[in-house]
Amino acid sequence: MEGSPVEEWDVVLVGGGVMSATLGVLLAEVQPDWRIAVLERLDAAGLESSSAQNNAGTGHAGLCEFNYTPRRPDGGVDASGAVRIGEQFASSLLFWARLVERGELGPPEAFVRSVPHLGLGRGADGVAWLRARWEALRGHPLFTDLEFSEDPAVLAAWLPLLFAGRAGDEPLAATRAAQGTDVDFGVLTRQLLAALQRRGGDVRTRQEVTSLRRRGRHWHLEVRDLGTRRRRRLRTPYVFVGAGGGTLPLLQAARVPEVRRYGAFPISGRFLRTDRPQLVAAHRGKVYGHAEPGAPSISVPHLDLRVVDGRESLLFGPFAAFSPRFLVHGRPTDLLRSVRAGNLPVLLASVRDNRSLVGYLVRQVTSSREARMAALRRFVPSARAEDWTLVTAGQRVQVLKRTGGRGTVVGFGTEVLTSAGGSLAALLGASPGASTAVATALDVLAASSPQRMAEWAPRLAALAPSAASVRAPDPDRLAEAVAGARRVLGLTPVVAAAPDQGVGAP
Ligand SMILES: Cc1cc2nc3c(=O)[nH]c(=O)nc-3n(C[C@H](O)[C@H](O)[C@H](O)COP(=O)(O)OP(=O)(O)OC[C@H]3O[C@@H](n4cnc5c(N)ncnc54)[C@H](O)[C@@H]3O)c2cc1C
Repeated sequence: MEGSPVEEWDVVLVGGGVMSATLGVLLAEVQPDWRIAVLERLDAAGLESSSAQNNAGTGHAGLCEFNYTPRRPDGGVDASGAVRIGEQFASSLLFWARLVERGELGPPEAFVRSVPHLGLGRGADGVAWLRARWEALRGHPLFTDLEFSEDPAVLAAWLPLLFAGRAGDEPLAATRAAQGTDVDFGVLTRQLLAALQRRGGDVRTRQEVTSLRRRGRHWHLEVRDLGTRRRRRLRTPYVFVGAGGGTLPLLQAARVPEVRRYGAFPISGRFLRTDRPQLVAAHRGKVYGHAEPGAPSISVPHLDLRVVDGRESLLFGPFAAFSPRFLVHGRPTDLLRSVRAGNLPVLLASVRDNRSLVGYLVRQVTSSREARMAALRRFVPSARAEDWTLVTAGQRVQVLKRTGGRGTVVGFGTEVLTSAGGSLAALLGASPGASTAVATALDVLAASSPQRMAEWAPRLAALAPSAASVRAPDPDRLAEAVAGARRVLGLTPVVAAAPDQGVGAP
């Protein structure tokens, strides 16, 4: 190994997920002369969190998620989170559309489709929250098609599977955004990496990075070829660790000081799934509820229409489960090996300071099939156990750190971490994830190479306008740009059935 030649690269991207793929295309755009290598340990790219099997495929744009519009004490909502996610998703749409226009990406229907996004408010409080959300957002150019209704006939037309034949007198309301999307981030990842390869990037699979070390002004990587079992040595002035659940262990092994006190805890996402055509035909959207009073925000239930490899199904969840692996294809020892003297206090503090979350996870892990079906029946009253199968869909590594003396869970938001003067960048945290990959990749560039951003700005603005520039002073121009991108991507709003013409529930 010591004797094998050292390969020189300008950039090495560890991991072939949507984040590395997006960053790689942006780097190839601003520095076409750089030699860029992507290393992926699995047989193909986009098979971990970015795979359509391992996430909910929601193009998060703030159209339906209560989490992005927390309530204020005066009964209104703070809509800034939803607007921010909406702008970040607009960045992603514009980026994908420009690549499609240039003939570098496509066909778009293979990775993005129109699927309406709905929010469901239940109980007097939930209905008031949803109404306040709608009132706060509807004047914004990214939310112009958001509709609100409490009318049972309209609700039954929008959501026949949920409302037709529903008994009881619980107050209910829904919002509907026809411009919502379902995204296959796995297909998108592979299309982006193919575009990077056509620009000269070296994308290799079955390459596991086993060691990362800083020596002098360079990062040295040791890589095992999982096909030939041979080892490679790479040297680069800039490394991006986009290894998903594999990121923290690699940074720990590299003794990156910034993560010394970070811990991590894996949670598997499980969903009830049905492929039954009558059920799928009766639910043409993604509907997000809100957490029950006192329940943690990660417990938000949603029922999603998914389209994977052209095949439609419905998924309801998520239900949390425990697995000690940090990746779907990880090792059972991942969790144990991540515990160090430096992060043990933060792990213990996180358990102490997040009792309701810990209690919720314990209840989830031990919950029965009957309890899961009962949760589903709160959404779909007529659900029959024989139509629904429990599937494990994805592994989320919650990063734990100490903030203000408390152990906190980095649950919402992706953290960009840099080290050694920006020569290493990495992503920690899990959500909202793939939908905001462009905004996150732009953050990575700005954090790693602030001195180059002025030089790169014109090319970046042409390919991937930032959320800040999407937030242009002229709302009409923003609406026009997004409408243009949607046309290029073949996204046409899905019109709702009229109240008296709803697709009857099966
Ligand atoms: C249950 C669930 C539901 C979700 N739902 C949504 C959603 O609806 N919408 C949304 O936008 N986001 C969603 N997300 C988040 C989204 O899936 C992730 O944020 C995103 O896919 C992360 O991409 P990534 O490139 O960082 O990681 P990944 O896609 O996990 O890619 C990391 C890659 O690195 C590789 N790797 C790891 N270690 C090494 C190593 N040592 N050497 C070489 N390669 C390595 C892995 O094999 C993997 O391919 C969800 C996530 C989960 C878990």
